Amino acid sequence: MHFFLDVALPLPLKDTFTYVITSAEAKCIQPGMRIIVPFGKRKQYTAIALKVHQNPPKAYEPKHIEGIIDRSPVLSTIQLSFLQWISSYYQAPLGLVIRTALPTVMLLESETEIVTHHWDTISAELTKGARLLLDQLPQNSVLTLTQIQQLILVKNPYPILKELAKPGYISLKEEVYAQYKPKTQSEIILHPNMNSDNALKSKLYELSANAKQHKTFLTFLQQRAPVVVSEFSKLETVSPSSLKTLIKHQVLLKQERIIDRLPAKTASDEVLLPLSLSQEEAKNSIDEFWKSKEITLLHGVTGSGKTEIYMHLISEQLAAGKQVLFLVPEIGLTTQLMQRLYRFFGQHLAVYHSKYSPTERAETWEKVNTTNSKSLLVLGARSAVLLPFQDLGLIIIDESHETSYKQYDAAPRYHARDAAMVLGRMHNAKVLLGTATPSIESYRHAKNEKYGLVSLTTRFNKAKMPEISFVDLSKAYQKKQMNGHLAQELIAAVGQTLDAHKQVLLFQNRRGYASFVECSQCAHVPQCQSCDVSLTYHQVNNELRCHYCGYVEPYTPACVACGTITPQTQGLGTQQLEEEVRQLFPLARVARMDLDTTRKKNAHKNLITAFARHEIDILIGTQMITKGLDFEHVTLVGVLSADNFLHFPDFRAHERAFQVLTQVAGRAGRVGDSSKVLIQTFQPKHPVLKYVQEYDYLSFYEQQLIQRDQFAYPPFVRMIRIELRHKNMATLLQAGDWLKKGLHERFSFVLGPAPPPVGRIRNYFILYSLIKLPLDASQTSAKERLEKLLESFAQVGVFKQVKVVTDVDPQ
Ligand code: ADP
Ligand code: ZN
Repeated sequence: MHFFLDVALPLPLKDTFTYVITSAEAKCIQPGMRIIVPFGKRKQYTAIALKVHQNPPKAYEPKHIEGIIDRSPVLSTIQLSFLQWISSYYQAPLGLVIRTALPTVMLLESETEIVTHHWDTISAELTKGARLLLDQLPQNSVLTLTQIQQLILVKNPYPILKELAKPGYISLKEEVYAQYKPKTQSEIILHPNMNSDNALKSKLYELSANAKQHKTFLTFLQQRAPVVVSEFSKLETVSPSSLKTLIKHQVLLKQERIIDRLPAKTASDEVLLPLSLSQEEAKNSIDEFWKSKEITLLHGVTGSGKTEIYMHLISEQLAAGKQVLFLVPEIGLTTQLMQRLYRFFGQHLAVYHSKYSPTERAETWEKVNTTNSKSLLVLGARSAVLLPFQDLGLIIIDESHETSYKQYDAAPRYHARDAAMVLGRMHNAKVLLGTATPSIESYRHAKNEKYGLVSLTTRFNKAKMPEISFVDLSKAYQKKQMNGHLAQELIAAVGQTLDAHKQVLLFQNRRGYASFVECSQCAHVPQCQSCDVSLTYHQVNNELRCHYCGYVEPYTPACVACGTITPQTQGLGTQQLEEEVRQLFPLARVARMDLDTTRKKNAHKNLITAFARHEIDILIGTQMITKGLDFEHVTLVGVLSADNFLHFPDFRAHERAFQVLTQVAGRAGRVGDSSKVLIQTFQPKHPVLKYVQEYDYLSFYEQQLIQRDQFAYPPFVRMIRIELRHKNMATLLQAGDWLKKGLHERFSFVLGPAPPPVGRIRNYFILYSLIKLPLDASQTSAKERLEKLLESFAQVGVFKQVKVVTDVDPQ
């Protein structure tokens, strides 16, 4: 009898592959185990076992697997079906989803480069195979897996390599070059020599001759080991020189220990704050809804204390030994939240960040994946939803309206909010969406009682919502009441705030100096060479930059088209705003927070800390300052222009405008003080602005719903976007025509193909088409039809180089 195994290769290939296995292998292989398989020309990959069966593949002669890595599955049944759901829903190859979800360290392949380190001796604890291999490996070098295999003539070196990696004889090259270096701290413990009572007693007796050493040692004994050297040395009863001597004489032992970014804390020593009455009520309704519904939406105004409610819910789950996933839109912007969670949950908290090194991520991955890791709280952005949870009790999706939950730039193009809801159901876990500005989709589900709906309409501690008013820019320009880009009304308000020793946030949604440079004579605007956009002027290096591809060119005052030396900068960037503000308020302490000022590690955190300590009076920033910041002394928020939000060519533009303006306004007056928001605009009567001003989400929602219904947009249809890219415009247009015909034959509601607002990026011309699917139509069959169509598209010779991207539920 013959046995076969279907596996998923960690490659962007649509199909699964079948291999031959022996009956013994058939007995021990379970779905979710890692298997080494040959693939292509003498290459090996780590694949994931999917299914053992007895049906030989028809199209090809299957090869035999090379080996089995695991004794038990690394992907649980739930996890595997979750990844399969992502693959089929978002139309991404399963192998690619697996590659995204698994740490690279776990998916070695022939080309993986391995670094050997230096060693003097080989530990006797290693297995014989490992010692033999180590004997033959050159030290301090880089070898690919294939080279290692040739060197030692072992077909399946994986288990041995795994063994050698642990004590650090070897590591993956990727890890060595990872930017992150583990943080270490020096600690002291009692030297093993002192482990018996007798030894300790006689040492104390001996030391009593030396007062300083005696005192230092006694102090040490009163502490709970391990003792952190830097803190210990500061104690009054400790003499640093005596400490040195004690270490030298082997009374104490000094060791370096790798610590997480978050210092290890053995127990959380702080208790949760008691909830206010309305928070308590909200929490009770959430609990009540969860009895009958999987998902509840917590719609709470900014500053209503949602985070505190989350923490109470989390703490209950941890107490019950469950795992909790806390999703945030961007982990880099959650310094404040991270600290708050850490204070209460201490060692239960694991932070998962795509910028951490592969090893670190692998560590968290394994931590989550062990069945006995109870009471774990994982704080992470989008990709944390792909972690292999074992006993998930609760998922919190904070700021659930944020678009950064959707991965748009690479497959799998999944929406972490939507995927989290599916994951929640698979684990039988509860799901809470929290936001002050729900997406129209989420709110509709809540209204239709598909989700529970809990509202918090007042701020914590009765803090007042800031009063929002508008500055009519057309009037201000007419009456010459502008000073650069700031209206006198806004300038006056900033002045008053500074006089009252309060803080100001100024929001301008564009970084750089000016959006573009325009020649005052011929109106020439410098463009990016490879994208269809004008370049942004950055004053710092006096250069022009493309915000799409990063292209940079030096700025020349003379117009390249006509030579006139009077270019005009147009539009306002945060850099120029900063300059104007500094001139207007020379005594104020001004800082700027945007992508350019927060590139360096910790820069964001440092800015936040400085602002929180009131070392900054005016903070100028992009979208970044709208996100979840909680500062006590901000009583004025200024928005330099609301107009670009209102006019963005997208059906969600108004939803975004409402969200951004409400969120940025929500940074003001979070503690007691009455506060103000001033929004500059040419359209002070715009309906969206009125809803923002009145904090009237409900009317805004109803108005949006009418428009979405009228123009057939979500939540009334589902959408799939097909993107075509090619360097040659003619070929692309031809491809567009081909596809248009195919789409119209198969779907009743298709837009495009047409070029998007920026029609060329990095020298690739782009076409978008949009398929709208009625809610009652089967999504699965629609996706199958689409897949078939795209397969035949790929068969057309001339279109071989056309890149096709499918984006399900585009944002
Ligand atoms: P949201 O997340 O809804 O915008 P936060 O959770 O940040 O609001 O709460 C706003 C402010 O109120 C924070 O400064 C927070 O520390 C404070 N706060 C909220 N709930 C409580 C509570 N129960 N006890 C004390 N302070 C609270
Ligand atoms: Zn460009």
